Amino acid sequence: MNDTVLEQHAFGAEVGRLLDLVVHSLYSEREIFLRELVANAADAVDRRRFESLTDSNLAPPAEAKIRIVPDKQASTLLIADDGIGMTRQEMIDNLGTIARSGTRAFAQSLADSKPEDRPSLIGQFGVGFYSAFMVADRVEVTSRKAGSEEAFTWASDGAGEFTLAHATRESPGTDVVLHIKSDATEYLEPMRLETVIRKWADHITLPITVAQDGK
Ligand code: ADP
Ligand code: MG
Repeated sequence: MNDTVLEQHAFGAEVGRLLDLVVHSLYSEREIFLRELVANAADAVDRRRFESLTDSNLAPPAEAKIRIVPDKQASTLLIADDGIGMTRQEMIDNLGTIARSGTRAFAQSLADSKPEDRPSLIGQFGVGFYSAFMVADRVEVTSRKAGSEEAFTWASDGAGEFTLAHATRESPGTDVVLHIKSDATEYLEPMRLETVIRKWADHITLPITVAQDGK
């Protein structure tokens, strides 16, 4: 990765409020961040498979699986896929603005919901990525779009801004690196991660591997 900051952007107007909502109202259910990131990885692999059928320039994923790598020493959790990836502009659009439903509707639904129904609201409102900030105080997404040589790193501490920098990635796909909060270190334990995956990601047909610490 190249650390030179290329650009600094403010989040779309609603993202800050939404981040607050997600982080504070779903605290007791915060393990679902992993469900959301795994679902995004699986979607990305599906899209690459699909697009490689119709676009002869695109190779299907060589090894379609989702890799989860906790690193206690660095306090990071990596979720990596060899899916379709994102361009620079797609990272700005998909990770920096709220494309679908408004924050107000989401807030209202949260207020009206029973606590046990809240985790499903995150998925319904298409705000899954931001749930990473329930367990991370910094998130870095390095992505290379299938068919492109270029890679970029999107990074944010979830407080109003994100940066974009040039990066390198050997093959297309996306690495999401979570810098785990000091009160969320349970998500650096391989066994804990396995349990969450069994509970929430049972329906995902792609292989999901959880590395032992740092491997
Ligand atoms: P949703 O998945 O409901 O669209 P999310 O907040 O989970 O909402 O993700 C927002 C968008 O970011 C996705 O729709 C997708 O375009 C993009 N995205 C997130 N993670 C990845 C990934 N691992 N690979 C490619 N694109 C991704
Ligand atoms: Mg999602």
